[in-house]
Amino acid sequence: MKTHARVVIIGGGVMGVGLLYHLALEGWTDVVLLEKGELTSGSTWHAAGQCPHFNSSLNMTKVHVYGTQLYPKLEALTGHAVSWHGCGGLRLACTDEEVHWLKYVHGISRLAGYECNILGPSEIKAVHPFLDVTGVKAAFHTLHDGHVAPADITMAMAAGARALGADIHRRTRATNVQRLQSGEWQITTDQGTIIAEHVVNSAGSYADVVGSWTGHLVPMANMLHHYLITEPVQELIDHAPELPVVRDPYSHSYLREETNGILIGPYETATAHVCWDGKPPAWDFESELVAPELDRLMPWLEKAAERFPLFGQAGVKSVISGAITHTPDGTYLSGPAPGAPNYWMHCAASIGICQGGGAGKYLAQWMVHGQAEINMREFDPRRFGNWATQEVTETVAIADYHHMYYCYKPGEQHKVGRDLRHSSLHEKLKSAGAQFSQVFGWERARWYDPTGQGEDFSFKRNNAWNAVRAEALAVRERVGLMDLSTFSKFEVTGPDAAAFLDRIIANRLPTKTGGLTLTHLLNVNGFIESEMTITRLADDRFYVLSAATAQLHDMDQLRWRLRSTENVTITDVTDTYGTLVLAGPKARDVLAGLTDTDLSNASFRWLTAKETMVAGIPGIRLLRVNYVGELGWELHCPMADMPKLFDALMAAGASHGIQLFGTYAMNTLRMEKSYRGWGSELTAEIDMFEASMQRFIRLDKPDFIGREASLARQQRGPRMTLVTLAVDATDSDCMGNEPVYHNGTLAGLTTSGAYGHALNQSLAFAYIAPELAIPGTKLEIALFQHRHTAEVIADSPYDPANERLRA
Ligand SMILES: Cc1cc2nc3c(=O)[nH]c(=O)nc-3n(C[C@H](O)[C@H](O)[C@H](O)COP(=O)(O)OP(=O)(O)OC[C@H]3O[C@@H](n4cnc5c(N)ncnc54)[C@H](O)[C@@H]3O)c2cc1C
Repeated sequence: MKTHARVVIIGGGVMGVGLLYHLALEGWTDVVLLEKGELTSGSTWHAAGQCPHFNSSLNMTKVHVYGTQLYPKLEALTGHAVSWHGCGGLRLACTDEEVHWLKYVHGISRLAGYECNILGPSEIKAVHPFLDVTGVKAAFHTLHDGHVAPADITMAMAAGARALGADIHRRTRATNVQRLQSGEWQITTDQGTIIAEHVVNSAGSYADVVGSWTGHLVPMANMLHHYLITEPVQELIDHAPELPVVRDPYSHSYLREETNGILIGPYETATAHVCWDGKPPAWDFESELVAPELDRLMPWLEKAAERFPLFGQAGVKSVISGAITHTPDGTYLSGPAPGAPNYWMHCAASIGICQGGGAGKYLAQWMVHGQAEINMREFDPRRFGNWATQEVTETVAIADYHHMYYCYKPGEQHKVGRDLRHSSLHEKLKSAGAQFSQVFGWERARWYDPTGQGEDFSFKRNNAWNAVRAEALAVRERVGLMDLSTFSKFEVTGPDAAAFLDRIIANRLPTKTGGLTLTHLLNVNGFIESEMTITRLADDRFYVLSAATAQLHDMDQLRWRLRSTENVTITDVTDTYGTLVLAGPKARDVLAGLTDTDLSNASFRWLTAKETMVAGIPGIRLLRVNYVGELGWELHCPMADMPKLFDALMAAGASHGIQLFGTYAMNTLRMEKSYRGWGSELTAEIDMFEASMQRFIRLDKPDFIGREASLARQQRGPRMTLVTLAVDATDSDCMGNEPVYHNGTLAGLTTSGAYGHALNQSLAFAYIAPELAIPGTKLEIALFQHRHTAEVIADSPYDPANERLRA
């Protein structure tokens, strides 16, 4: 066995092998894969092999589509036989909301470039004559997805990787991973030791054990999942071509042909549980099944027999029951683990056969080039913090499994695994009617429900709409108060703090104490990694704020850019401070009664900050900035003092009609100002010019990370340009990832949308062809399959001169 390698991958299932192959294709061939048994001997060998296209996430769809395009070609590429069945698929919808969902995903299909149609019940029969369509309103018919033998694609990719020079060591178990002083990783195995620049955890059901060696929390549970295969059925023997794979919300099952019999895999909605009592499998567990529990499947099998009557008449030939890895959000983990660089996760996939090819391709790009061509945030392991304990993970993974065929409406979340992180105002906001959503473990108010009814989630405008309108207009006309304690907050201090920050940010660092700037961290390719607000508290002390979901990501971005020679301390103070946003034309009047600090425009300008006393509470960081485009301040207050500050602001604001507002209102307000969002408009496959953020990049600075590449990108010109659109919408607004057309031709895609209540106008952000990015250009947006006219408008349609926020 080699003693040194550029990359060591632990685990020879479809995920590990998919990555190995794509690293080799990218030119990294000094790569070693370790497998304790035989390739595929974990979950991969016994998977049903379905590879669907249907998915509501554009990035995940790209992963799926890549796989379904790769697998049929693998034999030609690698010489290893692959049995690809491109029989297509039918996703059934039995409710109006499910039909809306299909229509939204239809838009995704246009962007991802796969063929599909939405069929009515009578048309379904034409592609699947054996289906009983009782209660079915529509079906999403995909033409070129299907199923494949999981071992075939894994072995083919392994053959391809070997041919390119990668090494695979079967029967070699990793027993420990440790980081060396040099920054390299030492992987101990039962066959010897290897030192590697990068290590990848692709250990499937063992990924949490492997992660624990280095103190990494791997939020995954091993769920017990079954499928059954019947004896051959004469009607299917006589029928050609192969029937499409059916996904049915009524029986919560996938149903397809398998060797002329029927294969059915139900996702039970109440009785699912983890394997092995939540413990990892024994190390010698190899190519084995987990004991089946057929009783718990019976209600679903009966429903499946109603949907596909031939199934009810056939005898069961085999039962497959095995561990399926599952994260709390159902999406696999792929990307850097938090902490020391070059430890990568590539595991916890529930649909890993379909995803193994694409997941490997995009992680290989990230590892080799520093970024992938798609936005990897939804796969990034750092979307889970240490709040995703094993107990929480199991609870939520079970709920997620139960909801495998449930249609989540926009904004709808699991009800379990909640209340993990609260601001100290939680109870007060709750009693004010706050409707919370979970973000990075936090409960954050989305809107305030005056009726007590709660949100009726829908793809269309729903019962939150009027309340959100009232909140947004209160901010525009009077004053609003929002708890935004979920900000990720860091302090960067030390003699080299200023030089360090100046070296890593694209904007200019404030030179004076009390200065504040919005800035971005770019990667070496000139693409946007992070967005931060930096306040200079002293010559050597900076307060750094970023998105709630970026807490681990941005800590890594800061730490990884720090040189060992720089005398800088980076501290995460997220939980130390709470944040209240006070915004609206009356904000100054409300605050003035609570502080001696001069709030006048002359002495407290927009984009400045002071540390001061408010409501008798010392040490409050008052930042004159906000994300809603009004006169206002963010008040960063010791978390324990937040209730006192909140009460004081509410009392002082009462006579001004102060109104609590949540993130729904914040979203509509920021859209009216064309404020971009990290993760939606600003992502790691976009540069500052494409995002129309030129004014935040100072190419005249002598140096900062990403400067050279930005200059080159500026010269080359944008591939697409971000614009604000006025949308002629009726009963729903853009959510993001809707296709945009110009003269009937696909011209781009939306990234966010909302109804601007002060403008009485539905708005969207879209990336479109640069030549169309001129105010007045007429476009069309497909919203639930209906084309709505949209017009490019100048940025910041509300208060374009920024007079209100500078008032
Ligand atoms: C019944 C069932 C049906 C399924 N059907 C589908 C389907 O239709 N479509 C689909 O896309 N997905 C399906 N899946 C899911 C799919 O099987 C998994 O998502 C996929 O196999 C995960 O691949 P993996 O490489 O992450 O894990 P695994 O295949 O489990 O591979 C991990 C490997 O790591 C090795 N390993 C672990 N620890 C070490 C160590 N310390 N040293 C060396 N090696 C180690 C293990 O031996 C194992 O081979 C199904 C799963 C089940 C259970």
